[in-house]
Amino acid sequence: MNTQQLPVVVIGAGPAGLAAAAHLVERGIEPLVLEAGGRAGAAVREWNHVRLFSTWGEVVDPAAEKLLAPTGWTRPDPATYPSGGDWADLYLQPLADVLGDRVRYGARVTGVSRTGRDRIVDAGREAQTFVVHVAHADGREERLFARAVIDASGTWATPSPAGGSGLAALGEKAAADRITYRVPDLKDPAVRARYAGRRTAVIGSGASAFTALAHLADLAKSGDGAGTKSVWILRRGISGSTFGGGEADQLPARGALGLAAKAAVDEGHADAVTGFRTEAIERDTDGRLVLVGEDGRRLDAVDEVIVLTGFRPDLSFLGELRLGLDVRLQAPVELAPLIDPNQHSCGTVYPHGHRELSHPEQGVYLVGMKSYGRAPTFLAMTGYEQVRSVAAAIAGDLDAADRVELTLPETGVCGGAGLFDAPDAAQADGGGCCAPAPQLVQLGAPAPVGAAAEQAPAGGCCGS
Ligand SMILES: Cc1cc2nc3c(=O)[nH]c(=O)nc-3n(C[C@H](O)[C@H](O)[C@H](O)COP(=O)(O)OP(=O)(O)OC[C@H]3O[C@@H](n4cnc5c(N)ncnc54)[C@H](O)[C@@H]3O)c2cc1C
Repeated sequence: MNTQQLPVVVIGAGPAGLAAAAHLVERGIEPLVLEAGGRAGAAVREWNHVRLFSTWGEVVDPAAEKLLAPTGWTRPDPATYPSGGDWADLYLQPLADVLGDRVRYGARVTGVSRTGRDRIVDAGREAQTFVVHVAHADGREERLFARAVIDASGTWATPSPAGGSGLAALGEKAAADRITYRVPDLKDPAVRARYAGRRTAVIGSGASAFTALAHLADLAKSGDGAGTKSVWILRRGISGSTFGGGEADQLPARGALGLAAKAAVDEGHADAVTGFRTEAIERDTDGRLVLVGEDGRRLDAVDEVIVLTGFRPDLSFLGELRLGLDVRLQAPVELAPLIDPNQHSCGTVYPHGHRELSHPEQGVYLVGMKSYGRAPTFLAMTGYEQVRSVAAAIAGDLDAADRVELTLPETGVCGGAGLFDAPDAAQADGGGCCAPAPQLVQLGAPAPVGAAAEQAPAGGCCGS
């Protein structure tokens, strides 16, 4: 089999996967995009009600735009903010349509390996093509061959649990009927009714948690939402950086999210419970949920729980490949130090490409959201630069692959959306941490908010 004639298999038709395909096409290499969902941007569509904090100008890939141009496609106003639904409908689907039958839907990748070589076999390994197992929506199974594999399958389908130790809390699965792992769409009447007038625990400290708190506060202020109340569960304490970079964030809409969450707390719509690591979720006699902390605290019962503690990569179908992943973040080892939330905020990672994304198994790349593993700070524009470099490397154009063609914005948070919660970091200047002080906190008087939650584009980067 002539390896060079085989396609590059791209897993996932999200923003990163489709951009990868566009860059490959630009270089005369055939991509084959395998998408588990029925349409382009299947994951993005699941949060179609959430407004991005990035503008249109920041979420369209340059090679994709070139591919789309002959179709008469024009980018929406670059200064405006798309919702997830806009991103999928107005950009991702048209892009997938241009790629035509290079994109296959209902095609879930279930395994990737070297043909005839499991993980432990060295002999002739590098010369073997990649073999990709696909489960189709109609039940068929298929074996495809590839010269290289770009895994752009994201992390959306594998959210982290409520449990403070990274494991599902005891009782978490049994309480599934009252738990969601997504920012609820409160414009949907059925969803709205679920939270209106109810007491809801929001677990997490990133942009998605900010969004949920702001939306619930809006609900509380609206005619049908009297009595709506949030309990905001934080593993850490509250410090100057808890609410993100605010007005110092170079992505103003991202900064506004934190300010809207702060307003929700300041105005009394949300009570913050700090230093709380959820150990168990129990039901009281009337079916409401009681969160129990690892320190033994039992919180007052809530009607609903929204868990927004981040995402993890699904590595299950990559088990036969020799990946070099950081033991903590599950991101490529060269990339991990650049995005470690203990050290960096969204903007402090420098643009990177094929070198930071390579593995002992040559020809395999994890890109997009998945490349960040558990790190919470991925931006679409970072992914576009990744796939530009990776496509160039696959084409053998190392000059282009090594060139950096992107400048990333700063968050305004030194130390960023840090996940660490060591007590000695409590006073870190602008850092993303604070001593976990187990107490119920009501922040002071209402503060002016940069953008009302209704207007604030909402997003899921930085701990979404
Ligand atoms: C709520 C939210 C808001 C965000 N807002 C912003 C923002 O404002 N600005 C910004 O820059 N970034 C933002 N992000 C971060 C990031 O840009 C997006 O998550 C983006 O969608 C990541 O693109 P991706 O292509 O890497 O992954 P995804 O969009 O998750 O796409 C992965 C695709 O792979 C498919 N797939 C998964 N597994 C398989 C499989 N085994 N086989 C085949 N297909 C598979 C999925 O169905 C999906 O279509 C946000 C993220 C979230 C969650």
